[in-house]
This record gives sequence, structure tokens and C-alpha cells, in this order.
Amino acid sequence: MSYLKTSGIVIKEVNTGEADRIITVFSKNKGKISALAKGARRPKSHLVAGTQLLCYSEFVLFKGKDMYSVNSCDVIESFYDIRNDLERLTYAAHMIDIVNDVILENQPASRLLQLFLNSLYMLSKTDKLPLQIVRIFEIRLLSTIGYAPWVSSCTECGSTLFDSMHFSFLKCGFLCTKCVEKDKGALRISEGAAKALNYIVHSKMNNLFSFEVSENVLEELGKVSQRYMKDRLEKNYNKLDFIKTLSV
Ligand SMILES: [Zn+2]
Repeated sequence: MSYLKTSGIVIKEVNTGEADRIITVFSKNKGKISALAKGARRPKSHLVAGTQLLCYSEFVLFKGKDMYSVNSCDVIESFYDIRNDLERLTYAAHMIDIVNDVILENQPASRLLQLFLNSLYMLSKTDKLPLQIVRIFEIRLLSTIGYAPWVSSCTECGSTLFDSMHFSFLKCGFLCTKCVEKDKGALRISEGAAKALNYIVHSKMNNLFSFEVSENVLEELGKVSQRYMKDRLEKNYNKLDFIKTLSV
């Protein structure tokens, strides 16, 4: 019988049978994996903790005929703070939706996993604005999977005057005031938003979250990110709408 040892985070759990769980794991070595965790809902099971949503664990999985089954899992980080806070959990669920769509089986995606884990860490352990974390996550994720927008200069003339930029969804990047006639639908953005976009696409992973933006800039990032994500992934992600109902 062959087995697989990998770290990974549970992005979906479904109850099955009397006390079993089928989990979807975003794994370091094999991308998306489905695995049966037998007896994982029994309180005394050694699988009970590590097979819950958002648990990041070291897994040992046996490869069965149809799917993997979990032999053991040692929790590395449970992200307990997120699972017990409805608002944070909603932000995490939004990120899970996106991740679940872009990762594939048997395709290692270690940079994406690192981005996801870092984003969850920021959401769980810091008081950074959750919406800012999510916007950074979205834009960096699109960049990581091959849709990096051209945001270091104007896509037409190479101008780096960040106070005169528009974001063109047609050109997948910046157009300066002089070149904006190439796409009349381009969105005018502030200097702060232009700089933030450039930072998010190009900064080192370790420094990705270490900047602050104003409320206005955050709103601009949201407009760019949501439309760009819809264009590239051809889907609307609407879990964050639920946040609005929480703040009423
Ligand atoms: Zn230009």
C-alpha cells in the first residue's frame, strides 16, 4: 500500500457515514486532495482535531482504490481564532472559495499555499483590517497563477508617473493620462492605489502585508480586484456580501 506524507490545510469538510469525514486538503506536495477520515467525528479519535476546516497539519495519507484515507495528522496550526469568529470566518471562506477554484489535483502549488497560510495568519493573529488582507490576497493570488497585471508603468508608453494612472481591464494594467484613449473604459485610480497595486504584485512574500492604505485606496483596490478577478476567473465571489449584513 502506498502512502503520502505531506503538510496541508483542510479547505472543506463533509460529514459522511456514522462518524466519518471526507476532507479536501490543499496540500503542499499534491495540490488538491480528497481524503476519507474514518471515525474523525468521534470525540476520542486521533483525527478529530486535524481534520477540521482550516486546520493546517502534517498528514500521512494512504492511497486507496478510489481516494486517500487519513492515517494520521499532527496539527501545526489550527487557526482556531478564525473558526470561532463569524466575521473572520466569512473572510476566510471567501479566500477558500477562490483557492478551491484555482488549485488542481496533483499540481503542487507551494507559493499559493504560502500566500494562503500567510493571509490566514494575518487574519488570525493580527489586527490588520480583514478587508485589506483579502484584497492583497486576491491580487497576489491572480499574479501568482499567471495573471499578474502590468502595474510598474503605463502599458503603452512606459511612463512611471503614478499620479496619472488608470487601470485598464482590457490591457491588464496601467494606462497613463496620455494613453488612456486606448481604453476609454479604464478606471482612474489614485497615486496611492497605483503604488499599492505595484507593491502587492512585486513585493517579497515576507513583506507583502506590511503597508497601510487609506479607506479610499482600499475601496479602489476592491474595485480593481473584483473586476479583474471576475474577468480572469470568470466567476463572481459573493461570500463577502454576508459581512454587510453583520454590520447593520
Ligand atoms: Zn502612457
